[in-house]
Amino acid sequence: MDPGTHAPAPRGARPGGEGPGQPCTVSLLGSTGSIGTQAVDVVLAQPDRFRVVGLGAQRSVDRLAEQAAVLRPEAVAIGDARLARELTGRVPPGTEVLAGTDGLRELAARAEVVLNAVVGFAGLPVTLAALQAGRRLALANKQSFIAGAPVVQAVRRTSGGSIVPVDSEHCALHQCLRTGSPAEVARLVLTASGGPFRGRSLDELAAVSVDEALAHPTWQMGPQNTVDSSTLMNKGLEVIEAHELFGVDYDRIEVVVHPQSVVHSMVEFCDGSTVAQLSLPDMRLPIGYALGHPDRLPHPFGAIDWAALGRLDFEPPDRRAFRCLALAEEAGRAGGHAPAWLNAANEVAVEAFLDKRLPWRGIADVVEATLQHCEPGAPATVDEVVASDRHARAVATAVVEERERGV
Ligand code: MG
Repeated sequence: MDPGTHAPAPRGARPGGEGPGQPCTVSLLGSTGSIGTQAVDVVLAQPDRFRVVGLGAQRSVDRLAEQAAVLRPEAVAIGDARLARELTGRVPPGTEVLAGTDGLRELAARAEVVLNAVVGFAGLPVTLAALQAGRRLALANKQSFIAGAPVVQAVRRTSGGSIVPVDSEHCALHQCLRTGSPAEVARLVLTASGGPFRGRSLDELAAVSVDEALAHPTWQMGPQNTVDSSTLMNKGLEVIEAHELFGVDYDRIEVVVHPQSVVHSMVEFCDGSTVAQLSLPDMRLPIGYALGHPDRLPHPFGAIDWAALGRLDFEPPDRRAFRCLALAEEAGRAGGHAPAWLNAANEVAVEAFLDKRLPWRGIADVVEATLQHCEPGAPATVDEVVASDRHARAVATAVVEERERGV
């Protein structure tokens, strides 16, 4: 288990060297997306605590310029280097404009705390740069651990950097784990909302539509994540993330369906005691937790009105109807390239489903068929992670096309 998870700094201690009472310096990378804009809200609510020194986005010049005008960072970075010139004329005077992956990497190294909310593989170099520089990483980039775990773990072991997860389930586990020692942990229990198709049998799932899959009952997310919630692939990816983040065996990570999304996850300890983290579904809470760690921010995002809460339900997941969960657990256990292949195949399959070229149940079929071609070994560099992803996408695309032709 990661010792960093269980050795929180004393309360009141801030990372970095700006001295007591000084705001903590923060870089928000992926600042224009859903997590990034909510992080801006969190930071603006705590002006004495945080000073944004860097903002970065892949392509959203307009929104990045607007954020720079409000937050006045030292530098902004645009991942797509072709847009750097356009951005330069639109940021406040004196704001440095950096470009490309190198620009994002530089901002990751400059601040004491780095939010990585970059989407996709562009986030992997950001994670590595933050860890290599010994920073605290508030991690909201899935690829860092799903596809890039062998590379990230090697850096994490040696760099002195630390990770505080932003994903609501992992943030909950991080909080629960603070109440016991690694040796006392019996199992991690991840909660899943169950998505819009909870309770349906495999047969009843044969003809579900794109619109039905996009209607998530509790969380507002992009189409990929929403479909992943409907298949439980999202939960499967989170099981892999939990294993990588906390170093707990797959045999001791469980999933329970909890439709209200109020219990965000739980840890059972060796004495039979279960510690859970509860809050209303509001991503600003885990974002603030990760940015403020080890302190809690005095801003009650997600506080519960117990009188209005009603009931909390729990039930086991149906791995026969929601095969993506089982496929993800298998890929996690296999390790090496398999999680990267799982993720790539799933993205190709979900895109085909959204294009109405593949039925909902075909998503699991495509993932399963693609994983049968997975290469042995494990990626050792970012380039190898990217190559592995590309290979898996090509195989998955061929599987989808074969299905379309009825081969
Ligand atoms: Mg989650």
